[in-house]
Amino acid sequence: MSLAAATRSVHVRAPGKINVYLGVGGRHDDGYHALATVFQAVSLYEDVIAREADDFSLTVSGVEDDGSVPLDDRNLAMRAAKLLATATEHRGGVALEIRKSVPVAGGMGGGSADAAAALVACDALWGTGLSPARLHDLAARLGADVPFALHGGTAVGTGRGDQLNPALARGRFDWLLATSAEGLSTPTVYGRLDELRDEEGALADDPPLSLDVPIPVLHALRTGDPWQLADAIHNDLQAAAVDLRPDLAVTIERGVAAGALAGVVSGSGPTVALLCADPETAQRVQNTLRDEGMDPLHVHGPVAGARIIG
Ligand code: ATP
Repeated sequence: MSLAAATRSVHVRAPGKINVYLGVGGRHDDGYHALATVFQAVSLYEDVIAREADDFSLTVSGVEDDGSVPLDDRNLAMRAAKLLATATEHRGGVALEIRKSVPVAGGMGGGSADAAAALVACDALWGTGLSPARLHDLAARLGADVPFALHGGTAVGTGRGDQLNPALARGRFDWLLATSAEGLSTPTVYGRLDELRDEEGALADDPPLSLDVPIPVLHALRTGDPWQLADAIHNDLQAAAVDLRPDLAVTIERGVAAGALAGVVSGSGPTVALLCADPETAQRVQNTLRDEGMDPLHVHGPVAGARIIG
């Protein structure tokens, strides 16, 4: 008897990500920017439970009921389920339950994790048995960060961030995540970056349309040395995110003052990732920041991508 037939539901867990490095190049004609990024999957997870149903439906918990997460076909998990059904000519639907832990619009790819989890869950529930390569293709059609949420670990993303290559990363890195109640819209942050570059004349010469991740970033990951990584972490979007949310620069300063090695805005923000030397230091810095009224989450990476639980 198949897993799906025995249980009639499948539970998948997928990680949020931080961008250890994010280089943003020129804008393509289709509006997308060339990227060179290093993703790291961290131990903050989205849970998606797929149950057999005749129609498609979705519930979401763990977030404010304020409309920030769409419950219709705009939801990436719903789109993932329907895309898989179409691609495999599966008849019938699914009742999806999403339990969110990754902050919404936080620059941590929570929606992408939901989409990756929904793909894996529905594939198992429906017994469609797609190859990893086909799942990857469907994931890429859903969004640039979705393939990474499938694979997890530490990976270099180029193109729009969707051309993935695993990066060698030794050991474990400890991060404190300073999240924000208020999200930042990814297109708004990219738009502000374009404006800032225009103002600075940085686009006077043609910006490069393809980029590479600097060697010191890859070297630091390979050695597993957090001090080396602290010197190498960088995000080209940070100036735009800080311009829109000046408090993010203060958060980084406070994190470093409390003992973190370095801090960086993750993706388009507003989540700030503070790199710590080891788990004990992370705990100490977390306590100090709590005394100051902040409430950062202690996570570690790299962790695995979307996985069936139980
Ligand atoms: P991006 O992937 O655009 O960089 P992000 O990681 O900052 O985004 P997400 O939480 O993934 O943030 O969501 C961005 C937007 O996508 C939300 O504001 C919401 O409107 C929409 N969205 C679609 N599906 C989901 C989902 N399953 N969970 C959260 N948001 C979703």
